[in-house]
Amino acid sequence: MSYIANMMTITPRFTGLYLMLLLLASQHRAFAQMSYIHCGELLDCLGEKASAKMTIIIDGDRIKEVKKGFVDPPKDASFIDLSDRTVMPGFMDMHVHIESELSPARYAEVFRISDADRALRATKYCERTLMAGFTTVRDLGGSGVNVSLRTAINKGYVVGPRIYTAEKAIGTTGGHADPTNGFVKEIMGDPGPAEGVVNSAADAKKAVRQRYKNGADCIKITATGGVLSVAKDGQGAQFTPEEIEAIVSTANDYGFVTAAHAHGPEGMKRAVEGGIHSIEHGTFMTPEIMELMKKHGTYMVPTISAGRFVYDKAISDPTFFPAIIRPKAIEVGPQIQETFGKAYKAGVKIAFGTDSGVSPHGDNAKEFQYMVEAGMPPYEAIKSATVAASDLLRISDDYGTIEPGKMADIIAVEGDPLEDIKLLQDVRFVMKGGTVYKME
Ligand SMILES: [Zn+2]
Repeated sequence: MSYIANMMTITPRFTGLYLMLLLLASQHRAFAQMSYIHCGELLDCLGEKASAKMTIIIDGDRIKEVKKGFVDPPKDASFIDLSDRTVMPGFMDMHVHIESELSPARYAEVFRISDADRALRATKYCERTLMAGFTTVRDLGGSGVNVSLRTAINKGYVVGPRIYTAEKAIGTTGGHADPTNGFVKEIMGDPGPAEGVVNSAADAKKAVRQRYKNGADCIKITATGGVLSVAKDGQGAQFTPEEIEAIVSTANDYGFVTAAHAHGPEGMKRAVEGGIHSIEHGTFMTPEIMELMKKHGTYMVPTISAGRFVYDKAISDPTFFPAIIRPKAIEVGPQIQETFGKAYKAGVKIAFGTDSGVSPHGDNAKEFQYMVEAGMPPYEAIKSATVAASDLLRISDDYGTIEPGKMADIIAVEGDPLEDIKLLQDVRFVMKGGTVYKME
């Protein structure tokens, strides 16, 4: 918080210009200020239920203390009144594509849009994501502009969530992450490890090292075919076990968390056995693979939102997708939610993820509703986006709960989200690293 906020009470009525000033001031001042937040209800993601009337004391960008009751702030501290709100840790979405958003124009856009166009447009997606209460995202693949967006947000040039990015996803020739699928031969070329396309264990190592060199934070592979690539197969395995082993072992050398996009069982099984840390989508996951994931401690990142979105578009608008994609969307889309419900009940670890960029950025919290519909209790769904996500990213020392020492990434909604999970789609307060970005 800033000197402007001294002795002032911030309530939901204080908005607009005031918050802008606050934001500007806080960016130009070293963290030193204490803030006191009165929470009507607190879901700290440590316990099993909400605690009423709590005070969070923030020192700079971190939580200093959490106290029972409403503690009066000292004179030189700022005061944030959320006494009629439910307060939670900032949400974390483990699967977004922050650079883009799906539209029928997307397939031709690759020839028409520059990196600068892409970056500037994506600033809006970043802002929408943060304002929806998502203070951290894992970006699982784009053009490389995602690395610049991460840096711009960290430097305070752009408003958005903390981004952990895979830069460019790694695939095989003609696979889900081959960026030239569907092109005419004259411009198809022969992309290789630099572009994230591999065809041997040696290529696989080079592709990971190239991501490291390009500034990535994590690694994503496309272990099976996918719905939205201009290719026929949406499910088959696309890497050999040797290629996966080369990717995972090289990624581990650099401390990268690894994620595998997977719809069909064979590619999924190879990824889990190869030591991948999370399976994305997991559409046709079998009971055998669920057991294998429990054994290896592999997370499932469901992305029900993506399945629902592509199915709805494929059914309602026959021209939305190219003809080769539509049948895949109809087959894969509705299955994801059902499989998620089974995997959760089987005891597979779940980390929240939407695939936003397929579904619109800023709608991330709809996923909570879909998870609860499939049988996950509301607080468990919230914890999948806080405790579990920070565990997957290995940043639990700093994020995922509201307790002393953690970063002050804090959000709030009106009402009780444990009673009505849809309330999470209307986040009223967003603080990231001790700075207030939204107060309604
Ligand atoms: Zn994705």
